Amino acid sequence: SASGAFLEVTDLHAGYGDARVLHGVDLAVGRGEICAILGPNGAGKTTLLRALSGMVRVRGGVRLDGMDLTRRPPDALARQGVAHVPEGRGTFMPLTVEENLRLGAFTRSGRRRGRAAVEADLERVCAYFPVLRARMRQAAGSLSGGEQQMLAIGRALMLRPRLLLLDEPSLGLAPMVTEELFRIVRTINEEERTTVVVVEQNAHLALGVAGQAHVLESGRIVLSGPAERIRADEQVARSYLGYR
Ligand code: ATP
Repeated sequence: SASGAFLEVTDLHAGYGDARVLHGVDLAVGRGEICAILGPNGAGKTTLLRALSGMVRVRGGVRLDGMDLTRRPPDALARQGVAHVPEGRGTFMPLTVEENLRLGAFTRSGRRRGRAAVEADLERVCAYFPVLRARMRQAAGSLSGGEQQMLAIGRALMLRPRLLLLDEPSLGLAPMVTEELFRIVRTINEEERTTVVVVEQNAHLALGVAGQAHVLESGRIVLSGPAERIRADEQVARSYLGYR
């Protein structure tokens, strides 16, 4: 690819029926980076993640590691290592924690489908989220909000993702829980070199772990730069991030 980025999004348009939401998004994320997508409600952040995981129809270009993935269906993208943790988490409440995690391994490429690999991945997920080990046989629906978010991320990790898409992981969680969650996301990113795109309302938290950040407004990226620079710029903070 021209920029050499791991994830390269070019002039991406997406929407729902006649409702156009993304109006030409350009985005480049380096391999192993954490990229934060910030912006007000309704800006199109969720739609951008859905576009990257094949859940909405798009026009434009999406390349991952040099491969054109534009308009591939979600299962094909999952096989390419794209894992999406949706807002609201998308775990299966009546199933146990373990069943949810094993489902996460189901869609990945045949290469890693062997039983030993799945067991090793379960172990790996439990090392990141020890609380899940203690709750393996419990229904997902009985977990706290923070534990459910951990389960959702753990399930995504079972896919051995190359690109992890996180939609509002802090939603509805207490600040301490959220901080722990972001600490673990950073550990995963460091240990596995997983590239992460995280959509967050809590700009302060996201900017604390991200390398680059992008502000989306009305379906367009209006600001991009190193997270620390965006965090340090008071004018930006006031205009875009709702800081006082
Ligand atoms: P929020 O933080 O509120 O989730 P967002 O930045 O993630 O906001 P999106 O959820 O991507 O924004 O929504 C962008 C626009 O698309 C909104 O106007 C929303 O009403 C619309 N939209 C979202 N999902 C659908 C859908 N399934 N069908 C039709 N319109 C939708």
